[in-house]
Amino acid sequence: MKISRITVYQLDLPLTKPYWLSGGRLKFEKLDSTFVRIDTDEGITGWGEGCPWGHTYLPAHGPGIRAGLETLAPFLIGEDPRSLGHINRLMDLQLPGHPYVKSPVDMACWDILGQASGMPLWQLMGGAQAAPVHVNSSISTGTPDEMVALILEARAAGYRTHSAKLGGSDPQTDIERIEAITSALLPSEFVTYDINRAWLPGVALQVLNTVSDARSWIEQPCETLEQCAYVAQNVRQPVLLDECLHTFDDHLRAWKTDACAGLKVKPNRLGGLTKSLQVRDFAVSVGWKMHIEDLGGSALADTAAVHLASSTPPEHHMDSWLCHYHLGVDPVPGQGARNIGGKATPPDTPGLGVTPDTGIFGKPVATYEIRA
Ligand code: MG
Repeated sequence: MKISRITVYQLDLPLTKPYWLSGGRLKFEKLDSTFVRIDTDEGITGWGEGCPWGHTYLPAHGPGIRAGLETLAPFLIGEDPRSLGHINRLMDLQLPGHPYVKSPVDMACWDILGQASGMPLWQLMGGAQAAPVHVNSSISTGTPDEMVALILEARAAGYRTHSAKLGGSDPQTDIERIEAITSALLPSEFVTYDINRAWLPGVALQVLNTVSDARSWIEQPCETLEQCAYVAQNVRQPVLLDECLHTFDDHLRAWKTDACAGLKVKPNRLGGLTKSLQVRDFAVSVGWKMHIEDLGGSALADTAAVHLASSTPPEHHMDSWLCHYHLGVDPVPGQGARNIGGKATPPDTPGLGVTPDTGIFGKPVATYEIRA
Protein backbone atom coordinates (compact mmCIF):
# COMPACT_ATOMS: atom_id res chain seq x y z
CA MET A 1 0.00 0.00 0.00
CA LYS A 2 1.30 3.44 -0.92
CA ILE A 3 0.30 7.01 -0.12
CA SER A 4 -1.00 8.36 -3.43
CA ARG A 5 -2.32 11.78 -2.39
CA ILE A 6 -2.23 14.15 0.61
CA THR A 7 -4.94 16.81 0.70
CA VAL A 8 -4.80 19.65 3.21
CA TYR A 9 -7.78 21.71 4.41
CA GLN A 10 -7.90 24.65 6.81
CA LEU A 11 -10.84 25.55 9.04
CA ASP A 12 -11.18 28.26 11.70
CA LEU A 13 -12.82 26.92 14.83
CA PRO A 14 -14.37 29.80 16.83
CA LEU A 15 -14.78 29.30 20.59
CA THR A 16 -18.33 29.81 21.88
CA LYS A 17 -16.93 32.24 24.48
CA PRO A 18 -13.50 33.77 25.04
CA TYR A 19 -11.17 31.59 27.10
CA TRP A 20 -8.53 32.91 29.50
CA LEU A 21 -5.64 31.06 31.08
CA SER A 22 -2.28 31.54 32.76
CA GLY A 23 -3.65 34.19 35.09
CA GLY A 24 -5.46 36.01 32.32
CA ARG A 25 -2.32 36.83 30.32
CA LEU A 26 -3.41 34.50 27.48
CA LYS A 27 -6.78 34.94 25.76
CA PHE A 28 -8.24 32.67 23.07
CA GLU A 29 -11.19 33.31 20.75
CA LYS A 30 -10.65 30.93 17.83
CA LEU A 31 -8.43 28.03 16.82
CA ASP A 32 -6.77 27.49 13.44
CA SER A 33 -7.22 23.84 12.52
CA THR A 34 -5.63 21.81 9.70
CA PHE A 35 -7.30 18.65 8.41
CA VAL A 36 -5.18 16.16 6.49
CA ARG A 37 -6.68 13.56 4.18
CA ILE A 38 -4.34 10.78 3.05
CA ASP A 39 -5.42 8.62 0.09
CA THR A 40 -3.76 5.35 -0.83
CA ASP A 41 -3.38 3.34 -4.02
CA GLU A 42 -5.59 0.64 -2.45
CA GLY A 43 -8.59 2.92 -1.98
CA ILE A 44 -8.30 3.40 1.80
CA THR A 45 -8.47 6.99 3.02
CA GLY A 46 -7.28 8.22 6.42
CA TRP A 47 -7.95 11.51 8.26
CA GLY A 48 -5.95 13.52 10.76
CA GLU A 49 -6.33 16.91 12.42
CA GLY A 50 -3.71 19.26 13.81
CA CYS A 51 -4.98 22.14 15.93
CA PRO A 52 -2.63 23.98 18.29
CA TRP A 53 -4.31 25.89 21.12
CA GLY A 54 -3.77 29.27 19.50
CA HIS A 55 -0.24 30.56 18.91
CA THR A 56 0.72 31.68 22.43
CA TYR A 57 0.27 28.44 24.34
CA LEU A 58 3.13 26.38 22.90
CA PRO A 59 5.82 26.73 20.20
CA ALA A 60 3.17 25.61 17.67
CA HIS A 61 0.80 27.50 15.39
CA GLY A 62 -1.79 26.70 12.75
CA PRO A 63 -0.08 28.18 9.67
CA GLY A 64 3.11 26.37 10.68
CA ILE A 65 1.38 23.02 10.12
CA ARG A 66 0.58 23.89 6.50
CA ALA A 67 4.10 25.21 5.88
CA GLY A 68 5.63 22.08 7.40
CA LEU A 69 3.39 19.80 5.34
CA GLU A 70 4.62 21.50 2.18
CA THR A 71 8.13 20.42 3.16
CA LEU A 72 7.17 16.89 4.27
CA ALA A 73 4.56 15.80 1.75
CA PRO A 74 6.93 15.05 -1.18
CA PHE A 75 8.84 12.62 1.05
CA LEU A 76 5.65 10.85 2.20
CA ILE A 77 4.10 10.26 -1.21
CA GLY A 78 4.77 6.64 -2.26
CA GLU A 79 5.48 5.42 1.31
CA ASP A 80 3.41 2.74 3.08
CA PRO A 81 1.24 4.57 5.66
CA ARG A 82 0.88 1.41 7.77
CA SER A 83 4.61 1.48 8.58
CA LEU A 84 4.19 3.99 11.39
CA GLY A 85 7.72 3.74 12.80
CA HIS A 86 9.16 4.29 9.34
CA ILE A 87 6.80 7.20 8.61
CA ASN A 88 7.80 8.88 11.89
CA ARG A 89 11.53 8.37 11.34
CA LEU A 90 11.16 9.73 7.82
CA MET A 91 9.38 12.86 9.05
CA ASP A 92 11.98 13.38 11.81
CA LEU A 93 14.80 13.01 9.25
CA GLN A 94 13.31 15.47 6.77
CA LEU A 95 12.06 18.01 9.33
CA PRO A 96 13.63 17.76 12.79
CA GLY A 97 11.42 19.11 15.57
CA HIS A 98 8.05 20.69 14.72
CA PRO A 99 6.06 17.83 16.30
CA TYR A 100 2.73 19.65 15.79
CA VAL A 101 3.23 19.44 12.00
CA LYS A 102 3.64 15.67 12.09
CA SER A 103 0.70 14.82 14.35
CA PRO A 104 -2.10 15.04 11.73
CA VAL A 105 -0.05 12.94 9.28
CA ASP A 106 0.63 10.29 11.92
CA MET A 107 -3.06 10.33 12.94
CA ALA A 108 -4.22 9.78 9.34
CA CYS A 109 -1.74 6.89 8.97
CA TRP A 110 -3.14 5.25 12.14
CA ASP A 111 -6.62 5.64 10.64
CA ILE A 112 -5.44 3.80 7.51
CA LEU A 113 -3.68 1.07 9.54
CA GLY A 114 -6.89 0.51 11.51
CA GLN A 115 -9.06 0.29 8.42
CA ALA A 116 -6.57 -1.99 6.65
CA SER A 117 -6.39 -4.35 9.64
CA GLY A 118 -10.11 -4.18 10.47
CA MET A 119 -9.46 -2.89 13.99
CA PRO A 120 -10.41 0.30 15.81
CA LEU A 121 -7.50 2.38 17.15
CA TRP A 122 -8.24 1.56 20.79
CA GLN A 123 -7.59 -2.10 19.96
CA LEU A 124 -4.39 -1.41 18.01
CA MET A 125 -3.22 0.56 21.06
CA GLY A 126 -3.74 -2.39 23.39
CA GLY A 127 -7.32 -2.00 24.66
CA ALA A 128 -9.61 -4.98 25.20
CA GLN A 129 -12.85 -3.09 24.55
CA ALA A 130 -14.16 0.36 23.64
CA ALA A 131 -14.01 1.39 27.30
CA PRO A 132 -15.77 4.70 28.08
CA VAL A 133 -13.48 7.50 29.24
CA HIS A 134 -14.49 10.01 31.92
CA VAL A 135 -14.58 13.54 30.55
CA ASN A 136 -13.36 16.57 32.51
CA SER A 137 -14.48 20.16 32.25
CA SER A 138 -12.16 23.10 31.62
CA ILE A 139 -12.76 26.14 33.82
CA SER A 140 -11.43 29.46 32.51
CA THR A 141 -9.63 31.86 34.90
CA GLY A 142 -11.91 34.40 36.58
CA THR A 143 -12.86 35.72 39.99
CA PRO A 144 -13.49 33.06 42.67
CA ASP A 145 -17.26 33.51 42.22
CA GLU A 146 -17.04 33.29 38.41
CA MET A 147 -14.99 30.09 38.61
CA VAL A 148 -17.39 28.47 41.09
CA ALA A 149 -20.31 29.39 38.78
CA LEU A 150 -18.54 27.65 35.86
CA ILE A 151 -17.97 24.55 38.01
CA LEU A 152 -21.68 24.41 38.94
CA GLU A 153 -22.53 24.71 35.23
CA ALA A 154 -20.11 21.87 34.40
CA ARG A 155 -21.51 19.72 37.21
CA ALA A 156 -25.00 20.14 35.75
CA ALA A 157 -23.61 18.91 32.39
CA GLY A 158 -22.40 15.68 34.04
CA TYR A 159 -18.71 16.45 34.68
CA ARG A 160 -17.16 15.04 37.87
CA THR A 161 -13.61 16.32 37.30
CA HIS A 162 -12.68 19.91 36.55
CA SER A 163 -9.51 21.51 35.23
CA ALA A 164 -9.48 24.98 36.77
CA LYS A 165 -7.08 27.55 35.34
CA LEU A 166 -5.16 29.67 37.89
CA GLY A 167 -2.02 31.73 38.02
CA GLY A 168 -2.52 35.43 38.60
CA SER A 169 0.12 37.98 39.53
CA ASP A 170 -1.36 38.17 43.02
CA PRO A 171 -0.86 34.98 45.08
CA GLN A 172 -3.66 35.99 47.47
CA THR A 173 -6.25 35.86 44.65
CA ASP A 174 -5.13 32.36 43.70
CA ILE A 175 -5.43 31.29 47.34
CA GLU A 176 -8.98 32.70 47.38
CA ARG A 177 -9.84 30.93 44.13
CA ILE A 178 -8.67 27.56 45.50
CA GLU A 179 -10.49 28.02 48.81
CA ALA A 180 -13.74 29.03 47.06
CA ILE A 181 -13.58 26.04 44.71
CA THR A 182 -12.67 23.65 47.58
CA SER A 183 -15.78 24.78 49.48
CA ALA A 184 -17.98 24.30 46.40
CA LEU A 185 -16.81 20.79 45.46
CA LEU A 186 -18.85 17.69 46.27
CA PRO A 187 -16.93 14.82 47.93
CA SER A 188 -17.29 12.87 44.67
CA GLU A 189 -15.74 15.67 42.56
CA PHE A 190 -12.10 16.33 41.75
CA VAL A 191 -10.23 19.34 40.47
CA THR A 192 -6.86 19.79 38.83
CA TYR A 193 -5.46 23.31 39.16
CA ASP A 194 -3.71 24.18 35.93
CA ILE A 195 -1.32 27.10 36.36
CA ASN A 196 -0.10 27.07 32.75
CA ARG A 197 3.45 28.15 33.78
CA ALA A 198 2.34 31.42 35.40
CA TRP A 199 3.91 31.05 38.87
CA LEU A 200 7.49 31.59 39.89
CA PRO A 201 8.64 28.73 42.13
CA GLY A 202 8.49 30.88 45.27
CA VAL A 203 4.92 31.97 44.49
CA ALA A 204 3.93 28.32 43.96
CA LEU A 205 5.22 27.49 47.44
CA GLN A 206 3.44 30.50 48.96
CA VAL A 207 0.08 29.51 47.48
CA LEU A 208 0.25 25.74 47.76
CA ASN A 209 1.61 25.67 51.31
CA THR A 210 -1.13 28.07 52.45
CA VAL A 211 -4.28 26.51 50.98
CA SER A 212 -6.22 23.84 52.88
CA ASP A 213 -6.55 21.55 49.82
CA ALA A 214 -3.70 19.01 49.70
CA ARG A 215 -5.40 16.36 47.53
CA SER A 216 -5.88 18.19 44.25
CA TRP A 217 -3.35 17.91 41.43
CA ILE A 218 -1.30 20.95 40.46
CA GLU A 219 -0.47 21.19 36.76
CA GLN A 220 2.55 22.92 35.19
CA PRO A 221 3.02 25.45 38.03
CA CYS A 222 6.11 27.08 36.48
CA GLU A 223 7.80 27.62 33.12
CA THR A 224 10.54 25.01 33.16
CA LEU A 225 10.82 21.37 34.12
CA GLU A 226 13.49 22.21 36.71
CA GLN A 227 11.31 24.87 38.35
CA CYS A 228 8.37 22.43 38.45
CA ALA A 229 10.65 19.78 40.01
CA TYR A 230 11.60 22.20 42.80
CA VAL A 231 7.91 22.87 43.45
CA ALA A 232 6.98 19.16 43.36
CA GLN A 233 9.57 18.45 46.06
CA ASN A 234 8.38 21.24 48.36
CA VAL A 235 4.58 21.01 48.37
CA ARG A 236 2.03 18.46 49.64
CA GLN A 237 0.00 18.32 46.42
CA PRO A 238 0.90 15.95 43.55
CA VAL A 239 2.26 17.74 40.46
CA LEU A 240 1.42 17.10 36.79
CA LEU A 241 3.53 18.34 33.88
CA ASP A 242 2.20 19.54 30.54
CA GLU A 243 3.77 22.34 28.47
CA CYS A 244 7.40 21.51 29.31
CA LEU A 245 7.16 18.00 27.82
CA HIS A 246 7.92 17.75 24.10
CA THR A 247 10.39 14.94 23.44
CA PHE A 248 10.72 11.49 24.98
CA ASP A 249 13.92 12.78 26.55
CA ASP A 250 11.90 15.44 28.42
CA HIS A 251 9.87 12.66 30.03
CA LEU A 252 13.03 10.78 31.02
CA ARG A 253 14.39 13.98 32.57
CA ALA A 254 11.12 14.50 34.48
CA TRP A 255 11.36 10.96 35.84
CA LYS A 256 15.03 11.24 36.77
CA THR A 257 14.45 14.52 38.64
CA ASP A 258 11.20 13.48 40.41
CA ALA A 259 9.54 16.44 38.75
CA CYS A 260 6.02 14.98 38.70
CA ALA A 261 3.66 12.19 39.64
CA GLY A 262 1.65 12.55 36.45
CA LEU A 263 1.40 14.28 33.09
CA LYS A 264 -0.76 15.39 30.22
CA VAL A 265 -0.36 13.29 27.07
CA LYS A 266 -1.27 15.39 24.01
CA PRO A 267 -0.66 14.02 20.51
CA ASN A 268 -0.24 17.43 18.87
CA ARG A 269 2.40 18.47 21.43
CA LEU A 270 4.31 15.18 21.14
CA GLY A 271 4.14 14.69 17.36
CA GLY A 272 1.26 12.25 16.97
CA LEU A 273 -0.30 9.07 18.31
CA THR A 274 2.83 6.97 17.73
CA LYS A 275 4.94 9.10 20.06
CA SER A 276 2.05 9.54 22.50
CA LEU A 277 1.76 5.77 22.74
CA GLN A 278 5.47 5.54 23.55
CA VAL A 279 5.04 8.16 26.30
CA ARG A 280 1.84 6.48 27.58
CA ASP A 281 3.60 3.15 27.94
CA PHE A 282 6.58 4.78 29.69
CA ALA A 283 4.20 6.56 32.07
CA VAL A 284 2.49 3.26 32.88
CA SER A 285 5.89 1.67 33.52
CA VAL A 286 7.01 4.35 35.99
CA GLY A 287 3.64 4.62 37.75
CA TRP A 288 2.48 8.04 36.58
CA LYS A 289 -1.14 9.11 36.16
CA MET A 290 -2.26 10.80 32.95
CA HIS A 291 -4.81 13.06 31.42
CA ILE A 292 -4.93 12.07 27.73
CA GLU A 293 -6.41 14.64 25.33
CA ASP A 294 -5.28 16.81 22.43
CA LEU A 295 -4.19 20.45 22.37
CA GLY A 296 -7.38 21.47 20.62
CA GLY A 297 -9.48 20.71 17.60
CA SER A 298 -12.79 19.27 16.52
CA ALA A 299 -14.34 15.96 17.55
CA LEU A 300 -11.94 14.33 15.06
CA ALA A 301 -8.82 15.20 17.09
CA ASP A 302 -10.70 14.57 20.34
CA THR A 303 -11.67 11.08 19.16
CA ALA A 304 -8.07 10.14 18.34
CA ALA A 305 -7.06 11.05 21.90
CA VAL A 306 -10.05 9.18 23.35
CA HIS A 307 -8.94 6.01 21.52
CA LEU A 308 -5.56 6.29 23.29
CA ALA A 309 -7.17 7.13 26.65
CA SER A 310 -9.63 4.25 26.37
CA SER A 311 -6.81 1.75 25.81
CA THR A 312 -4.86 3.00 28.85
CA PRO A 313 -5.05 1.04 32.14
CA PRO A 314 -7.79 2.84 34.10
CA GLU A 315 -5.69 3.25 37.26
CA HIS A 316 -3.29 5.40 35.22
CA HIS A 317 -5.92 7.50 33.44
CA MET A 318 -7.43 10.63 34.98
CA ASP A 319 -10.14 11.74 32.53
CA SER A 320 -9.95 13.50 29.18
CA TRP A 321 -10.97 17.00 28.14
CA LEU A 322 -12.90 17.34 24.87
CA CYS A 323 -12.10 20.55 23.02
CA HIS A 324 -15.07 20.33 20.67
CA TYR A 325 -17.47 21.33 23.45
CA HIS A 326 -15.90 24.80 23.41
CA LEU A 327 -16.41 25.30 19.66
CA GLY A 328 -19.05 27.13 17.67
CA VAL A 329 -18.69 24.83 14.63
CA ASP A 330 -18.72 21.05 14.27
CA PRO A 331 -17.15 19.71 11.05
CA VAL A 332 -18.02 16.09 11.95
CA PRO A 333 -21.57 16.34 13.35
CA GLY A 334 -22.76 13.29 15.24
CA GLN A 335 -19.47 11.44 14.76
CA GLY A 336 -16.74 10.31 17.13
CA ALA A 337 -16.37 10.33 20.90
CA ARG A 338 -18.98 12.60 22.49
CA ASN A 339 -19.76 13.43 26.11
CA ILE A 340 -22.75 11.35 27.14
CA GLY A 341 -23.48 11.65 30.85
CA GLY A 342 -19.87 12.59 31.64
CA LYS A 343 -18.28 9.81 29.58
CA ALA A 344 -17.02 9.50 26.00
CA THR A 345 -16.67 6.18 24.18
CA PRO A 346 -14.38 5.67 21.17
CA PRO A 347 -15.97 4.32 17.96
CA ASP A 348 -16.02 0.57 17.46
CA THR A 349 -15.49 0.74 13.71
CA PRO A 350 -12.08 0.06 12.11
CA GLY A 351 -9.63 2.98 12.19
CA LEU A 352 -10.33 6.35 13.76
CA GLY A 353 -14.06 6.14 13.05
CA VAL A 354 -14.53 9.78 12.01
CA THR A 355 -14.86 10.94 8.39
CA PRO A 356 -15.47 14.63 7.68
CA ASP A 357 -17.74 15.74 4.88
CA THR A 358 -15.25 17.79 2.83
CA GLY A 359 -18.04 20.15 1.77
CA ILE A 360 -17.68 21.96 5.09
CA PHE A 361 -14.01 22.82 4.41
CA GLY A 362 -14.33 24.50 1.02
CA LYS A 363 -11.43 24.09 -1.39
CA PRO A 364 -8.25 22.36 -0.19
CA VAL A 365 -5.35 24.70 0.61
CA ALA A 366 -2.90 22.18 -0.88
CA THR A 367 -2.84 18.84 -2.67
CA TYR A 368 0.26 16.68 -3.07
CA GLU A 369 0.23 13.57 -5.25
CA ILE A 370 2.23 11.19 -7.38
CA ARG A 371 2.81 12.84 -10.70
CA ALA A 372 2.45 10.76 -13.85
MG1 MG B 1 -2.38 22.10 31.02
